[in-house]
Amino acid sequence: MKCELLANCAFYQKKMPIESGLGAIYRQNYCEADKTKCARYIVATTLGRQHVPVDLYPNMHERAKKIIAGK
Ligand code: SF4
Repeated sequence: MKCELLANCAFYQKKMPIESGLGAIYRQNYCEADKTKCARYIVATTLGRQHVPVDLYPNMHERAKKIIAGK
């Protein structure tokens, strides 16, 4: 199921072209396949979207854990 945050996801809006290269791979693997594995999605749904750093990549799970832990 597609991620409902895609249209407004700062990661794509500001950092990475969504249709090419890495952006396309992330989009396939996370945004269109399993958003629940996306580090951005996890932080957004746990703490709120305002706590998601612009440069947090979908695969940065360790960083996401630290953000959630408040470190
Ligand atoms: S990067 Fe994560 S939060 Fe952003 S649209 Fe994709 S799955 Fe959703």
